Amino acid sequence: MNSPIWHPFTQHGLGHDIPEVKSASGALLHTRDGREIIDAISSWWVTTHGHCNPEIIAAIQKQVEQLDQIIFAGWTHEPAEKLAASLIAMTPNNLQHVFYSDSGSTSVEVALKMALGYWNNLGIKRDRIIVMEHSYHGDTIGTMSVGERGVFNQAYNALMFDVDKIDFPATGHEQKTLDQLEQYCRSGKAAALIIEPLLLGAGGMLIYSPETLKAMRDICTAHDILFIADEVMTGWGRTGTMFAFEQAGITPDILCLSKGITGGSIPLAVTLSNATIFDAHYSTDRSKLFFHSSSYTANPIACAAANANIKIWERPETRANLDILCAWQKQHLDRIAQIHHVQNPRQIGSVTALEIADSKGAYMSELGPKLLAFFKANDVLLRPLGNTIYVMPPYCINEEQLGTIYSLIAEAIEKFIA
Ligand SMILES: *Cc1c(COP(=O)(O)O)cnc(C)c1O
Repeated sequence: MNSPIWHPFTQHGLGHDIPEVKSASGALLHTRDGREIIDAISSWWVTTHGHCNPEIIAAIQKQVEQLDQIIFAGWTHEPAEKLAASLIAMTPNNLQHVFYSDSGSTSVEVALKMALGYWNNLGIKRDRIIVMEHSYHGDTIGTMSVGERGVFNQAYNALMFDVDKIDFPATGHEQKTLDQLEQYCRSGKAAALIIEPLLLGAGGMLIYSPETLKAMRDICTAHDILFIADEVMTGWGRTGTMFAFEQAGITPDILCLSKGITGGSIPLAVTLSNATIFDAHYSTDRSKLFFHSSSYTANPIACAAANANIKIWERPETRANLDILCAWQKQHLDRIAQIHHVQNPRQIGSVTALEIADSKGAYMSELGPKLLAFFKANDVLLRPLGNTIYVMPPYCINEEQLGTIYSLIAEAIEKFIA
């Protein structure tokens, strides 16, 4: 197909076919040429209850007829007020303020600006951000700066700012990470730590323990360093609990949410902050206000979709169904882990991941594109990260669809490795 569209993360020079999706429902995508694709990665981690969820769609339809969009600087509307109140009620008590934006990246940019604005307004010079190895926080210059560096952002190096990086706390090496964090906190220059709680997504679906997360929070508390939890991907049930940080019994100072906030139906993001950070911006002095806005801040249609999503979560069967999916995922992972060449099978909540390696244990980076093409040709949307295959389905997926995904993964291992 001849199209002027420049797609994200796509090398057009390789001439890959770009299928056109006509409609979607539940865990299925329907293409223009009549294929039915199982969405095994929730359309890049956003779709939670399934595509075109009737309740969310109805809420969008109702809202769009009433109020489509207004300026949010100095004005407000009911869907945003209702959503903010719900978010405050469902998160820890210390989180008391909600700032709206449009994407995961902007929610992180806002978090970083809140942290720096906080120290600036207190008149204390602290402007270093502590980050974790293999992290991903977005694709803007600021969020790339706090994320892993590599081929995907080396061209923009000149514009990225310096950060203090701690190791990923791999099993058995947690203390080293904690010592590094302690050292950076002692420098007196650190403003905040930003991390993906328990599960690093784009960095390779890497899982670390709640105990380590708790220990990191404790170190930040001891040194008065702001703790930013980027739950853009882990939020809304992915890790088995509503938010991943709950499993460590901790509370962040700043919380970033997006992706599943509207059930994956329409873009929206929030950055929640504690009262201390808000108060540092609260003044009769205009120069201390929080200098951030985007045109579509708190779009009413998106807020209505998020309110519908929260209503779905208020029903006990939503969590019960998620628990069932988590159990199915465990069964499938246990089974596929038996296959030779499968390494590091791992699971957290509704997400499973595994690596495949050849018999010598060497990783094959060319494997990724081959797998991608194979899955696409076989009507399953999976997008391996190098040699890491992960399954992160919408919660409405049924047993048969999930079975199909794992059969195809087993077939791929057979075809490309064994
Ligand atoms: C996807 C993601 C982001 C960026 O969100 P966008 O909506 O794509 O800008 C930030 N942080 C994490 C952890 C993510 O997974």
